[in-house]
Amino acid sequence: MSTIISINESDFIIANDEIKGRQIISKRIYQCGELIFQEQPLVLAQFEWNKLYKYSTCEYCLYPLESCEQNVRRLCQDSSIIIPHSECDPNRNIDQQIVRCPKCNEMYCSTICYQQAMNNYHLTLCQSNENSKKDQLIRHIIDLWRNVHPPPETTSISLVLKLMAMLKQSNNRVLLLQELQKFSQSVQSDNQQFYHKLLRKEFESQVEQLRYALEQFNEQYMEIVEFKWFLTLNGFRQLLALLGRNQQGIGTSSLAIWVKNCETLSIPQEAAAVAAASSDISQFIDAIYTKIDDVSGEFIDCEGSGLFKLQSCLNHSCDANAEIQYQHNNSTLSVVATRLISNNEEITINYLSECDRNRSRHSRQKLLQENYLFLCQCNRCISESSEPDETSEEESENDMDED
Ligand SMILES: [Zn+2]
Ligand SMILES: [Zn+2]
Ligand SMILES: [Zn+2]
Repeated sequence: MSTIISINESDFIIANDEIKGRQIISKRIYQCGELIFQEQPLVLAQFEWNKLYKYSTCEYCLYPLESCEQNVRRLCQDSSIIIPHSECDPNRNIDQQIVRCPKCNEMYCSTICYQQAMNNYHLTLCQSNENSKKDQLIRHIIDLWRNVHPPPETTSISLVLKLMAMLKQSNNRVLLLQELQKFSQSVQSDNQQFYHKLLRKEFESQVEQLRYALEQFNEQYMEIVEFKWFLTLNGFRQLLALLGRNQQGIGTSSLAIWVKNCETLSIPQEAAAVAAASSDISQFIDAIYTKIDDVSGEFIDCEGSGLFKLQSCLNHSCDANAEIQYQHNNSTLSVVATRLISNNEEITINYLSECDRNRSRHSRQKLLQENYLFLCQCNRCISESSEPDETSEEESENDMDED
């Protein structure tokens, strides 16, 4: 399941830094926009709230399973919207392609994805009603998780369920466990100052309920001896830290693909016609996004998270030289240079969301500490450390509110 699709071994190396741990160092020049590598996750899952609200995707690869029109109608709660230029929507006939698990109705984008899911974990997790107590326990675990982690979600307990099922179905459990152990998983930063936010006191009793339910699940239905340790008090904290620190968000959208394709529409001959046509379509797109924002807010995409072996070696910088993209509108991750990267330069990405990236050094460092357990000392943080206004009172108050 975990596959690095395109990587030229001589292009970069994985090195070990005393402070940062693993890091990826470029061994050649990358131009801005150049693809550095592509990778598929070891395990991935759609976010539970995202799924509950019927963002429909392939359970295996997160490819969106709505046409652009269905997507927009759902997000706007308006079934009268007609999307023009249907030729720009590769999903316009997606209904006819969807493959359903005959036992539980779970949806897949293709027979290949369904078979891969069955081979890896779905045979074990399929809620087929053949064992209603087991199905109930799975639903209970997911309900508990949704209570611990209201939106915006950052990771999912389904990753744990899937890992357990993968171990159960695997004929080489040792190899899979070794892959899992490679992800950084300490619950504390090295100087013992910060804990992962999921492990804070306020979540203690809910996290314990979750741990207990998973332990029951393992004892009653899975019987994976090798996973028992992860379901002990300490082991479970470590497992949550592993998920929290290493998970990479995945987003896919039928609307985004349609918009992108509209931008490259074949251009009419006359200049006046070009201007008129392109302004019509961009006005329409603006209106759609405004309406979605009114009805559904910022939650537009099908979203989930996954564990990626190579990507997890990329360190954060507030002034990163590369970014994560989902060019295939599924869980295949691409790392792309966002500026010229020179030989021997560390390749970095920004772990923060788009809007958090513009926050002050103080706020960025706080977010990074509670989510990824390190104090950012990137060039940008260092250069901003002398700026007098960054600890202004207004900023401190805002930070207090966020707590
Ligand atoms: Zn798929
Ligand atoms: Zn099924
Ligand atoms: Zn920084």
